[in-house]
Amino acid sequence: MAALPEELQAVLDLMPDEHRERLAGRDFWPGHLNGVDVVAVVAGIGKVAAATTATLLLERFGVDGIVFTGVAGGLGHGVQVGDVVVATQLLQHDMDASPLFPRHVVPGHASDRWATHPDWNHQLIEAARHTLTHLHALIGLDAMARQGLHQPAVHQGLIISGDRFVCTQPESAALRERLPDALAVEMEGAAVAQVCADWGCPLAVVRTISDRADDDAHRDFVGFVSDVASRYSAHIALAAVARLHLTGQQKQ
Ligand code: SAH
Repeated sequence: MAALPEELQAVLDLMPDEHRERLAGRDFWPGHLNGVDVVAVVAGIGKVAAATTATLLLERFGVDGIVFTGVAGGLGHGVQVGDVVVATQLLQHDMDASPLFPRHVVPGHASDRWATHPDWNHQLIEAARHTLTHLHALIGLDAMARQGLHQPAVHQGLIISGDRFVCTQPESAALRERLPDALAVEMEGAAVAQVCADWGCPLAVVRTISDRADDDAHRDFVGFVSDVASRYSAHIALAAVARLHLTGQQKQ
């Protein structure tokens, strides 16, 4: 699952037998990735789009787990463009029902954070490390130079989501101050986490950093998405699927 078509195209290119099913204005692509039954889908941008898509994946397609892949803005001090962040926890930074509930808590839920699946996270971190060591071959030296990528790193920790493209220095500084352990900001992950928690469905979220959520974010974002994001996503998704212990569902 990804928010943008550019983020998923290279994954779809790796699926030999996918077919399109149109539902609720979305294209779902059931098929196989590395021999494993998958449904690839572009969710659309923002929490509502992502939550609707997650619900359809669970209810109509009966998926056993969701892996979200896409780009995000870097917030944590060492989190640079080109790095990969695997979410161990997700939080909705624009949820605020205070003083009735503590800030960031979605009413009815015990905590302001949702945990992702530890074993899947471990596999995704390994997959991302593998991808990053082969980056030259994957995206080419020209694209690496254009994007100023040197030796990207893999991080794990808190990713925050909200219905805003964070693209000013004051806004990212305010988020950093309010949520000092947040590594990255995006617009969908914590919404999918809420749906997955309600369903008891395992989730993993892996994001490549496209911008620093600052005044250059829009320019950085557009260049990164077209140059790099989809190939990163596809490679990590492929490596992850090979590792996610889905052998029970392998196509014979
Ligand atoms: N397609 C539009 C806008 C995309 S919104 C455009 O071309 O401008 C940004 C998408 O990337 C969302 O799906 C979000 O999850 C992620 N993202 C990347 N950087 C972000 C940032 N700085 N703030 C919030 N979301 C970000």
